[in-house]
Amino acid sequence: MTEKHLVTLIPGDGIGPEITRAVTSILQAANAPVAWEVQTAGADVLEAEGEVLPRRVLESIAKNKVALKGPITTPIGKGFRSVNVALRKALDLYACVRPAKTLPGIKSRYTQVDLVIVRENTEDLYAGIERKVNDDTAESIKRITRGASERIARYAFEYAVKNNRRKVTAVSKANICKFSDGLFLDAVRTVAKDYPQIPYDEVLVDNLCMQLVINPEVYDVLVLPNLYGDIVSDLAAGLTGGLGVAPGANIGTHAAVFEAVHGSSPALAGQNKANPTALLLSACLMLRHLGEAACAERIEGALLAVLKEGASLTFDLGGRATTQQFAESVIAHL
Ligand code: NAD
Repeated sequence: MTEKHLVTLIPGDGIGPEITRAVTSILQAANAPVAWEVQTAGADVLEAEGEVLPRRVLESIAKNKVALKGPITTPIGKGFRSVNVALRKALDLYACVRPAKTLPGIKSRYTQVDLVIVRENTEDLYAGIERKVNDDTAESIKRITRGASERIARYAFEYAVKNNRRKVTAVSKANICKFSDGLFLDAVRTVAKDYPQIPYDEVLVDNLCMQLVINPEVYDVLVLPNLYGDIVSDLAAGLTGGLGVAPGANIGTHAAVFEAVHGSSPALAGQNKANPTALLLSACLMLRHLGEAACAERIEGALLAVLKEGASLTFDLGGRATTQQFAESVIAHL
């Protein structure tokens, strides 16, 4: 019998636990060689343990090196800082990789989107270095370093080489943020010289947003600083069927955490309505990362068949199936 990979499972909050249940039931039915070590985090554990990201969670991921994570709520403007950002920082998960690909059977304005967002995950405005100057003024620091920028650029080019991608495009606002985005762009250009076989170009982030809406087929691998990467990821999800189908991975040198692009969607929580596809595709990225490509392919095949058939889709894709019914349909197609 194949030995099982021990993986940390963080169900998260909001819709997290219900989509996590759906995904783990599919992996179990597919005989995925994975054993879960369940770790809770977020607002729910704050009262009992005094912190939203207890040490045990980080220790579990550091030990197992791989985690599958449901979304965790971050209150806007008050309360604790984001568990998601803290986790990425603590484990130095520097590369956020988010494929956005047209899926069969899903209504969308575009038919041939095949993008990969490679987002720097540790610095920029997203690091949350900010202060209140007085009641009417606040400041945020946009910190960009050459080291982090070269590291994410190298990840993007290596990804392009290993996955036979067409080109890499650096995204910035270097015309306005001349020092910070200017440094990011300079770092990507330096790294690009080491990959003459991969076509390379550059675009300003505002123009990119327009181009993606008009003609997304033009782009392939996009490498971006943290905040632009966050925003463009949601835009790319919208090109391929919405947040319910957009997977992601946070990759570091010593650990990797796989999670959907979407958040905890509090308004949907507890209704057994949320689409588990994004987390399921994230789990497939995880299986490939673990060297279990055949198992990932089998699950993706069943998922794509369900989407194409269109008989048991969740509400966000125009259907009426519950989260659990969708999962059962995928299992039936395995
Ligand atoms: P969201 O991604 O939770 O929801 C945005 C929209 O997409 C909503 O209309 C929602 O109903 C829909 N949606 C999202 N996931 C869906 C799914 N699986 N199936 C069907 N529809 C889905 O974004 P938000 O409302 O801005 O954020 C809610 C909370 O999640 C916030 O506290 C935010 O900080 C947090 N968040 C967490 C993560 C993470 O854990 N990595 C990522 C993004 C946002």
